[in-house]
Order: sequence, then structure tokens, then C-alpha cells
Amino acid sequence: MLLRSALHARGLRFRLHDKRLDGSPDLVFPRFRTVVFVHGCFWHRHVGCKVANVPKSNVDFWREKFMTNVARDARNKAALEQKGWRVLISWECEINTVSKAATAAEELQVLLNERQMPRAP
Ligand SMILES: [Zn+2]
Repeated sequence: MLLRSALHARGLRFRLHDKRLDGSPDLVFPRFRTVVFVHGCFWHRHVGCKVANVPKSNVDFWREKFMTNVARDARNKAALEQKGWRVLISWECEINTVSKAATAAEELQVLLNERQMPRAP
């Protein structure tokens, strides 16, 4: 995953797919109390993204499926936020080249630094 290597290149360390957290976020930055979900634009309905089209056949099936996914994402986000996590989303179309991933990693690092947790004594 391009984002992962771009983050590593910036010296950021994280856990992957932490199953103890709601929705097992793709990237977990415990020290910053921040999680990142890397969402595929099609399945998770990136608003305004051309990848997030609705297939022409079985329209009802797809609408139902998408609604379920989006509702689940919202539930996970709310549950994590209630536990004090900040929840960030990276959309696939925004990190699918080396240069886009590098930009995303840079932005993420800025966001993380806004929220550095004090180290345990
Ligand atoms: Zn997208």
C-alpha cells in the first residue's frame, strides 16, 4: 500500500488493522489517539468521486449494499469517537499514486502532530 510506505518514509509508526477497535481501522496511531480508515471509493461511496458510480443492473441490490456499508462506517466512526479516538478517512483515489500518497502522508503527519498525546511518565 502506497500510503503505508509514504508514512514509513516520514518516520511515522502505526499498527495495522487493529481488531480490538470498532471496524478494525487500517492504520492506528496510538500515541496520537488517531485512526485512519483507507476506504475504497466504490464500496464506501466517496461522495462526488467518479469511481463511486452505481452499476446499471441490480440497482436495488447495490443501493441496499451501499447503504449498509455507509451506515456501518458511520457507526464505527461514532463508536471510536465516543472512546476518544479521532477518525480520519483516506480515499483510495487520493492515494493511488506515489506522489498522491506522499502528499496524503504529509497532510496526515500535520494532523497527527496537532494531537500528540503526552507521553506516559
Ligand atoms: Zn474517490
